[in-house]
Amino acid sequence: MLDNIKVILVGTSHSGNIGSAARAMKVMGLTELVLVSPQCEVDDQTLSLASGAGDVAENALIVDTLDEAIADCVLVVGSSARSRTLEWPMLEPRECGRKFIQHAQQGKVALVFGRERTGLTNEELQKCHYHVCIPANPQYSSLNLAMAVQTLSYEIRMAWLEQQAAQYPAAVIEEYPRHKELELFYQHLENVILKTQFISQDKPNLVMNKLRRLFSRTRPETQELNMLRGILTSVEKSLAEQNNKD
Ligand code: SAH
Repeated sequence: MLDNIKVILVGTSHSGNIGSAARAMKVMGLTELVLVSPQCEVDDQTLSLASGAGDVAENALIVDTLDEAIADCVLVVGSSARSRTLEWPMLEPRECGRKFIQHAQQGKVALVFGRERTGLTNEELQKCHYHVCIPANPQYSSLNLAMAVQTLSYEIRMAWLEQQAAQYPAAVIEEYPRHKELELFYQHLENVILKTQFISQDKPNLVMNKLRRLFSRTRPETQELNMLRGILTSVEKSLAEQNNKD
């Protein structure tokens, strides 16, 4: 189950933080690290701070965009020190650990961390199903990147241990679409509502961001998403027929 969990670091600029994050993961049993457009190399400083977890840092997959990193994930959670930058579905760290263990039964899940200075952008945060915030001192709430990785990895491990100790098997969950399927749905939806002129070409994002939030909150299952795609296709067909008649 823990093998299905990815830790994603976006735009990290200090190589030492990658090493410390790798160590924080490995002590909690997590090994899949993905670096999105890192601003530094995996170097001696990384390996020195990784200590016995150099393998996790050296095996990290490096990709250019967050979309690539999360394409195959059925659950994506973005961690942010600022809980209310965007109104978005929120999880407490403990709940977040439990959700990860639940969804890791079905497929890949990802925990996303931002840049040391600026965190995650709004666009990146909007690609996540939920946000998680470590409820730290409100006057000084920003943890060092690797410390945030440590805290949330610990919660995942606690949830995993809880599951291991339970007398009953983990509850079966519904099948959820992967990120790339959701993105295809959003593109389809945008195309259709552009055609019906519900939104205009010059300002599509305003409405689309609200729709993303709506679907993040409701989390359609795979079957439900297929139904929505079917509805959009039927609208396209009837628009085409209408145009042919005109
Ligand atoms: N100044 C930045 C903080 C970046 S700290 C900001 O305001 O966003 C680097 C990363 O560590 C953050 O992007 C986030 O992923 C994680 N992090 C730090 N403190 C956190 C907290 N209290 N809760 C959740 N994540 C946190």
